[in-house]
Amino acid sequence: MTLIINKHSNNIFWFDLCPNNESNFISVYVIIDKKISLIETGPASSHNTLLAGIKQIGLSPEDIDYIIPTHIHLDHFGGGGHMMEVCKNAKSIVHPNAYKHVSSIDRWWSGSHDFLGSIADLYGKPKPIPEKRLISAEDGFELSLGSQNLKGLHTPGHAPHHITWVYGEEAFVGDSAGLWYPNIGSSFPVTPGDYRHDLALESIKKMDKLDLAYIHYTHFGPRIAKGVFRETRKEFELWMEVVEKGYQEDKSSNIILKELFEIRPGLEATHLSHGLHQMETHLGTVKGMLHWVRRINAQD
Ligand SMILES: [Zn+2]
Repeated sequence: MTLIINKHSNNIFWFDLCPNNESNFISVYVIIDKKISLIETGPASSHNTLLAGIKQIGLSPEDIDYIIPTHIHLDHFGGGGHMMEVCKNAKSIVHPNAYKHVSSIDRWWSGSHDFLGSIADLYGKPKPIPEKRLISAEDGFELSLGSQNLKGLHTPGHAPHHITWVYGEEAFVGDSAGLWYPNIGSSFPVTPGDYRHDLALESIKKMDKLDLAYIHYTHFGPRIAKGVFRETRKEFELWMEVVEKGYQEDKSSNIILKELFEIRPGLEATHLSHGLHQMETHLGTVKGMLHWVRRINAQD
């Protein structure tokens, strides 16, 4: 496999991590300023590819100052501890709620296993990161990288410990704005079982207030920011409408997903072309949204 390093700008590089040979699924970003930062590491199973990419950019692991996930789901940061072992000068910056999970991985790993099943094994088991090498990032956390600051904006919804990282006119949005499919020019929501729709919409609103030129998805790649968050909000609301109606009519998640296939151009194609790790992704999103609707209705 040849690794292609994409140069987004003079100081932002990114590449496809191709976990277990699945392309166009996980992108990782490197910011080269006075300080050098790695945004996302991907899963533990992609550790060697990540190292190869960093070398191809012309860096050695010792050059990296910060390793910064948007959140600690295994596809984003399962390889965090592996990287910290070889990047001897690096500190890792995580959400306060993720801090204890990455320093003591047992609950993180068992929780991932419960949720992902055998996919967790495909991603590989994380390694713990000693607390003295961790920095906890409160909402609004700022860090100087040299020419510009990197700012952490808490963006819960997809996960309670999700952070969007803002660097000038660029934002690394993780999963907080859904999945971006550059080949069809569409993005769709992605929501796990403990999804909070109210917080997800608030986070999208918060990101919409930023003055951005580009947003960088983990799944997958950069996108021109103009109009994206308004469109994303509409897409999330539309899905929720369909799910809510399905809930009222007692439909199964499979039936609701089929209805979405009919009204969202390109969605079914992304489902059919899904690789190993993403087979149930859209169904999982419908289930996550259904779970939210049930919770809301139970409260009434
Ligand atoms: Zn995630």
